[in-house]
Amino acid sequence: MTKKRILITGAAGFLGSHLCNRFISEGYHVLAMDNLITGQLENIEHLFGKENFEFYNHDVSKFVHVSNDLDYILHFASPASPIDYLKIPIQTLKVGSLGTHNLLGLAKDKQARILVASTSEVYGDPLVSPQDEDYWGNVNPVGPRGVYDEAKRFQEAITMAYHTYHKLDTRIARIFNTYGPKMRLFDGRALPTFVGQALMQEDITIFGNGSQTRSFCYVDDQIEGLFKLLHTDYHLPINIGNPDEMTIEELAKEILHLTNSRSKIVYKNLPVDDPKQRRPSISRAQEILNWEPKVSRKEGLEKTIAYFETLPLEKLINAEK
Ligand code: NAD
Repeated sequence: MTKKRILITGAAGFLGSHLCNRFISEGYHVLAMDNLITGQLENIEHLFGKENFEFYNHDVSKFVHVSNDLDYILHFASPASPIDYLKIPIQTLKVGSLGTHNLLGLAKDKQARILVASTSEVYGDPLVSPQDEDYWGNVNPVGPRGVYDEAKRFQEAITMAYHTYHKLDTRIARIFNTYGPKMRLFDGRALPTFVGQALMQEDITIFGNGSQTRSFCYVDDQIEGLFKLLHTDYHLPINIGNPDEMTIEELAKEILHLTNSRSKIVYKNLPVDDPKQRRPSISRAQEILNWEPKVSRKEGLEKTIAYFETLPLEKLINAEK
């Protein structure tokens, strides 16, 4: 039997690299594409040399060509953390808009099913909690985060338009905060920053008073949800995340405890438009995908901390300074 062929964009990033592993292990032929703007080849270099893996260094905001057939496309290319998209706002807007348009066109040409990575950020700073998929969101289009949030909202709109007008087989995953091995230490998000600071015995910096909430999904659970979504016939957006909500201060304290760190917590000013609460309703995912997260926060954090412990933290921190 010939292997199913899947194109994964953003393949050298955090989620993309885990997706490559999963689809390779499921027996797919994986075409990985990335321009390495925020990703790292080390995340996927263990796959180089495998006969069912190919890598293309390409910017998907430019025309995307693939020889031969494709069965599936996973569009994950996009800067994903505030520190990145504030540095490269135009590229962020382009990959969400032009990049998505290119990949929808490719999916149409190849008659492939396409899943796009949307985000909980489409809900902006939500006025309801938990957020279900029928909530339209509270986004400031001209605020600093607008470049990411609006690119993803456009991505959803154009994906639905291709579904409606071209009958394209589409899927939209609204991904909530996900963590785990292969995250970057300096991606600006609270969880890897706190772990790095705790392991280095440096002060843990909380922005604001720490009462803002987040819910964190372990990467294995996220990948399982995405895998199920790709293989379920459902084209409206689905939240994939962990509803286990906690404050940022609680997260910092838990990390201090699990790392046995002597670090102290310090407080800094909250960035503009930082969402005050984030928690997915996952009823739709439970009903349609028969999916819910399984990995406890303690287990997920322990695995993530163990990964960061293998990194040359001091060298990475000095390089960043
Ligand atoms: P990441 O930064 O680790 O990975 C993104 C990858 O996309 C990088 O390897 C980067 O080099 C690549 N990329 C960016 N622009 C590109 C372009 N124009 N052409 C080719 N490659 C390009 O981020 P991540 O956390 O793995 O996020 C992956 C996707 O999931 C993103 O679309 C993001 O919006 C979405 N998402 C992630 C989270 C999360 O918690 N990690 C939450 C919501 C949504």
